[in-house]
Amino acid sequence: MGQTGLCKCAETPMEEPTPAIQNLMASAPPGKTETEPKTVGDFQRQVSGVPFPQDEFQRQVSNTMDLCTRPVGEACTTTYRLKFQDTSGTMISPWHDIPLATSEVGVFRILVEIPKMSRSKFEVSTKEEGNPIAQDVKKGKLREYHGPIFWNYGMFPQTWEDPEHEHPDLKVKGDNDPLDVVEIGSEALECGAIVKVKVLGVLAMIDDGELDWKVIAIRVNDSKAHELNDINDVEEKCPGTVSGIREWLRWYKTPDSKPLNTFGYDERALDRTQAMIVIAETHEAWKRLRQGKTGENKLWMTAMDGKTVNDKALVS
Ligand SMILES: [Mg+2]
Repeated sequence: MGQTGLCKCAETPMEEPTPAIQNLMASAPPGKTETEPKTVGDFQRQVSGVPFPQDEFQRQVSNTMDLCTRPVGEACTTTYRLKFQDTSGTMISPWHDIPLATSEVGVFRILVEIPKMSRSKFEVSTKEEGNPIAQDVKKGKLREYHGPIFWNYGMFPQTWEDPEHEHPDLKVKGDNDPLDVVEIGSEALECGAIVKVKVLGVLAMIDDGELDWKVIAIRVNDSKAHELNDINDVEEKCPGTVSGIREWLRWYKTPDSKPLNTFGYDERALDRTQAMIVIAETHEAWKRLRQGKTGENKLWMTAMDGKTVNDKALVS
């Protein structure tokens, strides 16, 4: 997490966002050039010598790669992996190479790990080469929830909860994983799907002394998306959803004799703006991790050398 932190009280007026956060919140990508570059070289020539936001760089360079998934190993065993690659077979990391930001305000990409109404605990393997999706293993057994999760669950690419950074209000450090998302749309999305979501709010979950933010969002193409723009809309139009998510997350580990999870900010779901700040801060933390300025080297970090995946290849 960066230095901005969250206000102690949701009603407190927000401070001016940092330039990086303004960049994520901008309605149009800044620094747009007159002619669209066709190659990475063209792009670099156009912007050389011009201060240029990293996200815009990633957006434009993204016109260089396609994306497909490839299952490897045997389904329902510890050998199964869902790998990501381009059409030439070059490995893509779904954590590092999928662009987080879109050109729309408050709309970001997520990677679905666990489909709605399923139980298998699939997740991006942060330590394995290429960061494939694998089913979590505990004491040699594939990990299953004790009951289904009622929403799609996944992560934001290009984010990281820094285990060295103590949150100024909550006094806990990050969980060393990408930022999590709960997608509340009506459809069950596939494991490995990359979709655009509208951010609605965030819960500050604390799991065993670690900060584990849960962003609440809805797929932009969901039939309900046009009705939901902030956390209050969720409370009003989908009553019981926020408390349902909170209680599910509070209790889900207790059948394994683990304590209840807790939540900061008096257990409230914070609003869309504060969720966007969490996304921006965890994106900044990921950038520092990529630059080798922080973090442990056990995480698999090598990726596509600044390239990101083609927008057109990303289904929403
Ligand atoms: Mg997490």
